[in-house]
Parts: sequence; C-alpha cells; structure tokens
Amino acid sequence: MRLTLSTFVALAALPAAGAPLLETPVDCNIGDNCYIQNYVDHNSASGYLDFTCGPLSYDGHKGTDFALPTYAAMEQGVNVLASAAGVVKGTRDGMKDQILTKENAAQIEGRDCGNGVVIDHGQGWETQYCHLKQGSVQVAKGDKVEAGHILGQIGLSGRTQFPHLHISVRQGGRVVDPFFPSQDADRCGEPRDAMWADPLQYEAGGLIRTGFETGIPDYSDVKSGAAGDAEIATDAPALVVFAFGFGSRSDDIVDITITGPTGNVMSQSVTLEKVQAQYFRAVGKRTPAQGWPKGTYTGIVTLSRDGEVLDQSTTSVMVK
Ligand SMILES: [Zn+2]
Repeated sequence: MRLTLSTFVALAALPAAGAPLLETPVDCNIGDNCYIQNYVDHNSASGYLDFTCGPLSYDGHKGTDFALPTYAAMEQGVNVLASAAGVVKGTRDGMKDQILTKENAAQIEGRDCGNGVVIDHGQGWETQYCHLKQGSVQVAKGDKVEAGHILGQIGLSGRTQFPHLHISVRQGGRVVDPFFPSQDADRCGEPRDAMWADPLQYEAGGLIRTGFETGIPDYSDVKSGAAGDAEIATDAPALVVFAFGFGSRSDDIVDITITGPTGNVMSQSVTLEKVQAQYFRAVGKRTPAQGWPKGTYTGIVTLSRDGEVLDQSTTSVMVK
C-alpha cells in the first residue's frame, strides 16, 4: 500500500505527457542586454509569488516576461523566437506600440496580448507570445515552425508598460510555469523539472542600466534610453550617476562611487525601502566653480542584499 502511494505521488510530480523542451524565446543575452522581469504567479489567492516564493510576479500573472532595458533597444529590434517546433495556431498584428494609460485602456480591452503568436506543439501543449512590435509578426496561421524560428520582435503592444515579450505556456488550457511545472498552482520554493533546454538563471533583482548625466534625469528618459551621456562639458551643472534596477526588496543597498582623473569624486549609499518591480536612483555632485578636471570619469554601481552583492555595473563618461 505504501509503495503504491509513493509511486502515485512520484508520477503526479512529473510534467504531463509530451511536454516540449523550450528554447529561450528571445534573441538577447539574459542578464546582459535583457532580463526577466516577472514570472508566473504561484499564489492563486490575492497577492503573488514567483516560483521561488519571491516577489517577481504580480497577481494572476500567467507567463514569463523577458524585458528590454530601454525603448531604444526595442526600436533597434530584438527577435522573438519559437521556443519549440509546432504549427502556428493564430497571430495578430497591427496594434500600436504604446504604454498602457487610462486613456488607451478601452482601446486595448480584450486584446491584452497585443500583437502576438500562438503555437500548437501537439498533445494539448501551446505557447503564446505577446506584446510584439507593430508590423513585426513574420508567421501566419498554419505555418510549420522549428524551435528558433523568428516570429517577430519584442514590442510594446497590448496591456504593457515596458518593452518585453510575455510568453505563456499552456497544456490543455491550463497555465504551466516553465520554471516549475508543478501540478499544484500554489506550490513554490522547490523548483524542479524546468522545461528550458538551456537552464535559465533566476535573478532575484538587478541593475537594468546605469549612466552619467548632468542632473537628475527624468524617469521617462531613463526608461526610454534618452538618459545617459557619453560626453559632459567641464562646466555642466553637475556630475550625476543614475541606476535603473528591477526587483527591489526593502533594505537593498545601492552604492554609487564616482572617480575621476584626480581620484574619488564622491561615494554614496542609498537604502531601498520596498518591493518594487522597477526603480531608479541618482546621486551626484554639483560642479565646482573652476569646473571638473578634464578626463574620463567612472561610476561604479553596486547592488547588495543581505550583505551580498547581487549585481554591479560600471559606466563611464568623458569630461571635456
Ligand atoms: Zn507578462
């Protein structure tokens, strides 16, 4: 009896039959020029938990969000790739790339996915790709695709506030988290049987982008990619380093150090207060009366949690 029971439990924990092995669905380097912002919600009650029981999700989220650091990166074009072989079940294109606002919400209603593609992998398995760039969809209903086939490009269509690919994995209509395809929607914390062909690292927060500016930049310019100078005049009003990050938790520490041709310019430590999907901080120093010594300035941004370095980024600027 005991043997029968444990056998049954072991079988129930296996992914369902015919589960496809998934290739990474975006043509960028995760942790380098793109990152994972949100995972499937593993808390069916109100509130949210990602598969590690961390906060990188939101209530009712049914997929994984592969995000780009700026709109500029989206405009340059990053391909969305079929994660496994299959047949295209449906597509949509023609929706505008725009950030969700109160004003355009009604126009997006019922088309939350934006421009997208659904692929049927057989045995009830399908993947759906959302928020593709307007005019980028390159496949049509009925097309046979292999893993890695270009479907379109990462965009900003549908219900979204940052450029990213949302991919949903489903089996028989049920949402499956490719990082933790547990049969129990409320389990988290002990991931196993991930469906990725190349294991994807869980990053519990990190730096999206850092740069120099001559003052505190507007958050919209940080997100668009407009913020960040390669050259700054010696008599600019100030020398500022900004840090754009994701997945903050309370008591995370952002250390920013600026050094120049004559040594340390400033060091400042900023403590983050709460869980936030995205945030930005900037510190700097007013320009001295005689101007900054000309040369290369380097900013080092270090993000730490519980005494351990989570991420570090170096940025530089030429003062002339
Ligand atoms: Zn999503």
